[in-house]
Amino acid sequence: MQATIALAGNPNSGKTTLFNALTGARQHVGNYPGVTVEKKEGLCTAGNCTVHIVDLPGTYSLTAYSQEEMVAREYLAQERPDMVIDTLDASNLERHLYLVVQLLEMGLPLVLALNMVDVAKARGMEIDSDRLSQILGVPVIPTIARTGKGKQELLRTATDLASTMLIRKPLHISYGADLDQAILEMESLIKDGLFLDGFYNTRWVAIKYLENDEDIISRGQKANPVLSGKLQVIAARVSAHVGATLNMDPESLIADYRWGFIRSVMHQGIITRANDSDRLYLSDKIDKVLTNRFAGPLIMLGILFGLYQIVFTYSATPVGWMEGLFGWLSDTASAVIPPGMLQSLVVSGIIDGVGGVMGFVPLIMFMFLGIAIMEDTGYLARVAYMLDRVFKSFGLHGSSVMAYVVSGGIAGGCAVPGVMATRTLRSPKERLATLLTAPYMNCGAKLPVFALLIAAFFPAHEALMMFGITLLAWTGALIAAKILRMTVLRGESTPFVMELPPYRLPTFRGLATHTWERTWQYAKKAGTVILAISILLWVIMTFPGLPDQQAAQFEDMRQQAAASYPAIAAQELENAGDGAELSESAQSLAQAIAVIDSREAQAALRYSVAGKIGGSLEGVTKWAGFDWRTNIALVGGFAAKEVVVSALSTAYSLGETDPEEYQTLSQTLSRESSWSPAVALALIIFTMFYAPCFVTVICIVRESGSWKWGAFSVIFNTAVAFALAVIVYQTGSFLGY
Ligand code: GDP
Ligand code: MG
Repeated sequence: MQATIALAGNPNSGKTTLFNALTGARQHVGNYPGVTVEKKEGLCTAGNCTVHIVDLPGTYSLTAYSQEEMVAREYLAQERPDMVIDTLDASNLERHLYLVVQLLEMGLPLVLALNMVDVAKARGMEIDSDRLSQILGVPVIPTIARTGKGKQELLRTATDLASTMLIRKPLHISYGADLDQAILEMESLIKDGLFLDGFYNTRWVAIKYLENDEDIISRGQKANPVLSGKLQVIAARVSAHVGATLNMDPESLIADYRWGFIRSVMHQGIITRANDSDRLYLSDKIDKVLTNRFAGPLIMLGILFGLYQIVFTYSATPVGWMEGLFGWLSDTASAVIPPGMLQSLVVSGIIDGVGGVMGFVPLIMFMFLGIAIMEDTGYLARVAYMLDRVFKSFGLHGSSVMAYVVSGGIAGGCAVPGVMATRTLRSPKERLATLLTAPYMNCGAKLPVFALLIAAFFPAHEALMMFGITLLAWTGALIAAKILRMTVLRGESTPFVMELPPYRLPTFRGLATHTWERTWQYAKKAGTVILAISILLWVIMTFPGLPDQQAAQFEDMRQQAAASYPAIAAQELENAGDGAELSESAQSLAQAIAVIDSREAQAALRYSVAGKIGGSLEGVTKWAGFDWRTNIALVGGFAAKEVVVSALSTAYSLGETDPEEYQTLSQTLSRESSWSPAVALALIIFTMFYAPCFVTVICIVRESGSWKWGAFSVIFNTAVAFALAVIVYQTGSFLGY
């Protein structure tokens, strides 16, 4: 025998854990809502039955607002699995019953997995699963997905029930006189018209029309426009009536009645609490402080600042080692490879280009460790919870917070998964506003750019600068979102329900895995993508090379310099080996020649393809203080933001005077006359807000379903970023920085 079982449940109910326990498949087990987006499938056997298990996306309800809910509902209605298992968090039972009610209303064959009974017990709750089963009319099996307890019984109950092919009657909830009347009226129309027959039950369809469910209405419109129109007239009539009498829309009224039903279920002695009934679970106690209306946000900012302080303080030493390592590599390569193209490629193109990015690996690692601690303890979910209030006033949604954090809200994420994380958002407009602004966050690729500029120009205030940069990114993103929501994306906001997972003590293994995975991603990208782009940039910064005539001019200048010194000095210089003592005149000749060499290198770089491109933009970018080298870096940064660092590194390495003495890029920049704190700040701001990198743009196009939004984010962001950079640079220069 064969059976298909679909796993449904709220996010964080332990659905993925149960799926893994049943099928043995490996999958990421996360801590906050929205991790399971895709449909996961697996196989297992129960007795002589082969069971095909489908892990549906986690949803709080089955409306048609978000892709998750649509996917789950579509699957349940169209594929008709033989059995649905809904996982509930026993410690949060009331909340989780909302989805149960909707599954029951759809009339699906259902078994409830009362999961996390261990957590409920630890909180002093005893749940009468038999009583719950009686009231709801479906089997309820207590489980602990983490240990696998109860999973066999669950599977057996589900397959046994599936094989009986018993048809369960859909749950009827009374929605009050007005709605009930309308539902009956609509039901008879639907039945007579055989409307949307086969997939959905009639009462459910009627309720969906009252809820103004776009998906069902558009299906109805296609199937039978006349009948659908009649249903809409009834729905509009009811809506006007409850609007006038109760000042509510039918959708909220329906939700209210469902919650009322759930409360009445809960009142029938489902839960008995241990003797001290108002004992607060430890998590709740901690939350009293950490999510306190006033103290909470302050603590959050304190934690953020503390994180940066620790990261910059403790990463300084290992970052120094990395710089030392690349300095040594660079010196060794210069000594081993004879001067010429190959040396230039290896030293300036590869070692300095990739080294510029690799040098920050320790810093990135510390940052990721900090974030892993916040995530694994459950604190990150509190951050989302607290920011929901703020976000709402900017036209965003509590779920937008997670998208921001994933994109690099704390520092060091990536906008690609961030943009995809917006799939958890119900309203398309909120979703668009979020995915267009999430790339403003400080992803892992922007981090080395900031770290470089901070080290060069603000070494005394590293943590403070990073803190300011983070606040600026959020402020910019929220303002942009608000503007979008007031103009092109105007519309209603949707409510946010989120559970706070209990605090957990992170395990060493968990932290190590999280930190390592992300750091490795960063290093791998530096070693592959950034390496390739560095070589490409080296090529366009090197070729076509100075024309013979100009090269000859520099050669002449060198000859002249030599001629103006006593012949013996030139002789001495020629014969001197590395580190030999030189006479005074030989030393000053060496210096004069080094200056000419450097001017030649500079001229060649300017003459190169990249130099021409960068130079041609200088007319505009000089307003923001960006010279042609920075322009090359920023153009390259569209491919990947780390390239801003690697390109600057290569550009300054190619024009370097004294290849014998390795300088870190931040040392070089802090000494360059064309750089200043004002330029650095303008560049930080430009990097933060300008066009998302290429891959992110592709992702925006895919997720928004239109290339227009991709183009928008490139053009709009770059224009805004440039305007801000000009303001910062001009103000800074005016004030004398
Ligand atoms: P999903 O969002 O529904 O897929 O939930 P997950 O399977 O990702 O589980 C969320 C968290 O709850 C994970 O940290 C799990 O380890 C944990 N978890 C799942 N089931 C149980 C359980 O029965 N008891 C306890 N204590 N923790 C559980
Ligand atoms: Mg999951």
